[in-house]
Amino acid sequence: MGKIPDSHPRKASLLARAKLTQAGREGLLAESAMIAHGRGEAFDYLLGEKTSDSAKTAIKECAARLLAAKNPIVSMNGNTTVLAGKQAIRAAAIIGCPIEVNIYYRTPERMEKLIAALESMKEKIAAEVDEETKASVMAVEILGANADGKIDGLEGPRSICSRKGIESADVVLVPLEDGDRCEALVALGKQVLVVDLNPLSRTARTATVTIVDEVARALGEMEELLLQNPQPTDWDNQKTLREALEIISDSSKRI
Ligand code: ATP
Repeated sequence: MGKIPDSHPRKASLLARAKLTQAGREGLLAESAMIAHGRGEAFDYLLGEKTSDSAKTAIKECAARLLAAKNPIVSMNGNTTVLAGKQAIRAAAIIGCPIEVNIYYRTPERMEKLIAALESMKEKIAAEVDEETKASVMAVEILGANADGKIDGLEGPRSICSRKGIESADVVLVPLEDGDRCEALVALGKQVLVVDLNPLSRTARTATVTIVDEVARALGEMEELLLQNPQPTDWDNQKTLREALEIISDSSKRI
């Protein structure tokens, strides 16, 4: 793809598509990745393609819960790695937690490629930051290669996880989780923090805290909020979903 001028109104969207197309060619994504992205794009359009104040409050709540957790984990799939891998690594470095690559359609090749992509992003970030930050970035462990854990309540490949990661975590940040797995993780007593542009998805409605925002924007914002050391609150997740739906219904006023 040629250079897109900064003034192009769809620049961010076109760049995200280009990144995913390239990653698809390189074998990092499942075939359904584009469909999932397309569903997200449609909701983002209706949400005005920006982080709402309501989403910002949810991001802050997630930051607080991750900082207060005993065993926090950030779980990444293909799309989140490609679109927001660097943001996730920077957030994990501040929290001091590992990242687990955990994908629905698990193949050894894709797992290897996604883990390698995150390791290479770590190196790139480390080359741009001061010594102290560099140490915390390089300390972010990328889990997932060792499928020695299980999400109880699920069957087959979707139940596979890392024992040191998702299985032993009390707070799981899983951007773009699927509804069944979200339910299973909540049923295990874990706090499940998700990023989902669709406020009506089963994931969005089941999670402990739902950030209704685009994943790269949300995780970029989280980095700043983590540094403010926020405290968890008594969270009403229905309220954040209703606020997102209000923004969507108000979108008719933009015409
Ligand atoms: P559920 O099982 O939770 O009802 P689903 O079947 O609607 O989910 P999936 O196909 O599993 O959805 O995953 C796609 C989800 O991810 C959609 O809800 C979509 O809005 C969301 N999504 C896609 N891309 C992004 C993105 N870049 N940022 C945030 N959310 C996204």
